[in-house]
Amino acid sequence: MNIVIFGPPGAGKGTQSKFISKKFNLFQLSTGELLRNEIKNKTKLGSKIITLINSGELVSDDVVSNLIEKFISNNIYKNRLIFDGYPRNLNQAKNLDILLKKYDQKIDIVLKLSVSLETIKKRILERQRQENRADDNELVAVKRYKTYEESTEPILEYYNKSNLLKVVNGETSITEINVEISGLIEAI
Ligand code: AMP
Repeated sequence: MNIVIFGPPGAGKGTQSKFISKKFNLFQLSTGELLRNEIKNKTKLGSKIITLINSGELVSDDVVSNLIEKFISNNIYKNRLIFDGYPRNLNQAKNLDILLKKYDQKIDIVLKLSVSLETIKKRILERQRQENRADDNELVAVKRYKTYEESTEPILEYYNKSNLLKVVNGETSITEINVEISGLIEAI
């Protein structure tokens, strides 16, 4: 199966994706992590995207599309992908459908983690202490939340139409969210 997990920054997408990938033997495809690796490895692409990422803006659709196609086209990951942080806008959502179709795959479930801005601020500051991510500070967190509301939230309607969407309360504990998500996946 292929899963899309989305929600505002700090909603717990990464944490939950790691858990699901282990439990169901899937592969976590985090576009944020792929992009941060480009910066860490000082690649040409990394130098182009560093300012965008550190200010909470989205990287261009083409760049991210090229990155994810490498995984979708690879048989090792066929029907075992968790899309963590992709799609981020309607164009990406449509592109994901096209790419999956091209490689004879589809999305089986879309999980949305719902979390308030107040909780997000708290979690991002906590994550900053633990992981020291350059884009985890209060100012950029608010910008990233705005980007989410403006660009990413509208894809909810897109997935709602196809009956794939399940909304999960992301305010409860990591374990409670784990249990709820597992139940939803097992019910597919
Ligand atoms: P994340 O780790 O998912 O919170 O992503 C961190 C940052 O990477 C985002 O704030 C964006 O700047 C960039 N990014 C991650 N995924 C995407 C995407 N699908 N499209 C555009 N930019 C992205």
